[in-house]
Amino acid sequence: MLTRRTFGLLAGASAATLAMPYYARAQGAPRVVVIGGGAGGATAARYIAKDAGDAINVTLIEANPQYVTCFFSNLYIGDFRSFDSITHGYDTLASNYGITVVNGYAQTIDREAKTVAMADGSKVPYDRLIVAPGIDMIWDSVPGYSEAAAEKMPHAWKAGPQTQLLKAKLDAIEKGQQIVMVAPPNPYRCPPGPYERISMFAHVLKAKGFTDNKIIIIDPKQTFSKQALFQEGWEKHYPGMVEWYGPDVHGGLKSVDPDTGEVETDLDTFKGALVNVIPAQKAGTIAASAGLTNEGGFCPIDPFTMRSKADETIYVIGDASIAGDMPKSAFSANSQAKVAAMAIRGELTGSKVFPARYSNTCWSLIETDDGVKVGAQYEPNDEKIASTSSFISQTGEDAALRKTTYEESIGWYSGITADIFGS
Ligand SMILES: Cc1cc2nc3c(=O)[nH]c(=O)nc-3n(C[C@H](O)[C@H](O)[C@H](O)COP(=O)(O)OP(=O)(O)OC[C@H]3O[C@@H](n4cnc5c(N)ncnc54)[C@H](O)[C@@H]3O)c2cc1C
Repeated sequence: MLTRRTFGLLAGASAATLAMPYYARAQGAPRVVVIGGGAGGATAARYIAKDAGDAINVTLIEANPQYVTCFFSNLYIGDFRSFDSITHGYDTLASNYGITVVNGYAQTIDREAKTVAMADGSKVPYDRLIVAPGIDMIWDSVPGYSEAAAEKMPHAWKAGPQTQLLKAKLDAIEKGQQIVMVAPPNPYRCPPGPYERISMFAHVLKAKGFTDNKIIIIDPKQTFSKQALFQEGWEKHYPGMVEWYGPDVHGGLKSVDPDTGEVETDLDTFKGALVNVIPAQKAGTIAASAGLTNEGGFCPIDPFTMRSKADETIYVIGDASIAGDMPKSAFSANSQAKVAAMAIRGELTGSKVFPARYSNTCWSLIETDDGVKVGAQYEPNDEKIASTSSFISQTGEDAALRKTTYEESIGWYSGITADIFGS
């Protein structure tokens, strides 16, 4: 049977044969190495390879053989998407664009020698390096939490096995049992993400008739993204099910206990049959080890090009960067990747560099066909990447508009994944 995946493999195989002479021609050209094959890194690799042709030799280093998107992982949790539909491979980048895809973990960057040392001991030399490792967790930001504890209290803030674990725990919830989420402090990946996830938890419970089950959110923030829209939606679709506690109410998170499922705050101890702890975050570890981060744990960049402020041969894009007013999102990472790709091509081949423009939209699903969005356009200035105009869904919108907004997000997902991984 021809499935989406086998079709992809067949298409990749035939294109690989056609693309081979093109790849051979790229030997000897300047080398751009990209660390991280996610929303930012894979886009940058593809755009450089696509637009520079044989003038630049592109290598993409990625730890995992396949990429599971965090974006739309909430829809998998809510039973709106399959896990397979949010999983993507690198075959097309290799076969259709001549990108050398190295499946391995980049351990360190030697900025003097301009090489990336891989965990297996091999070295990858570069002329320009793009660092796009996404985020890593600050495990001890939540007392009692750890990498081991994440097997009992999943964060699922990097998609893959953690997402499947969270989904399995959600599906095992029984009538009357409670869910507790520990939400992250700013800055973190996908500002509306925790609250869309809460909506999906509630959707799954409601579909089973478990409308007496409670979902508690312990939030370190006073306010959160699209707050009025989410709170209106929870009241409308899931009355009495979701309780959000800001710091004024819970008084501070004291600890979590992965063995008992307890979350202790100043106010009370909450017990969850499912506890979803999303800790504080920092740039992917390799960025700090290479000296690209500041005291806040993320990477300062030049807003006009995404070039690292610490090293002029390195660019940092996506969640690892400090991108001014832009949120940490796949849309942002994809947008920043194109700016960095253009700047690097300009430097290495003399191609024309146009003024940087960035954009972002983040959609969230609250209940079936009830989609909302927030977004903005951005331009660089000497200080930062600054928002120039923005929009947000309104409370009280009619059902037809909300359905259109949701459908827009489906189109966006197919478009952006093709833009990242090729199609
Ligand atoms: C629940 C949730 C929902 C979200 N929903 C949305 C949404 O609707 N819209 C949206 O735009 N964004 C959304 N996001 C945010 C989005 O997923 C991230 O902002 C985006 O993936 C960031 O892209 P990135 O390239 O910086 O990092 P990533 O996409 O995480 O890619 C980093 C890659 O680098 C690899 N890597 C890291 N270190 C190394 C190393 N040393 N060696 C080799 N490989 C390495 C990793 O394996 C990974 O594949 C969501 C996030 C979450 C958690």
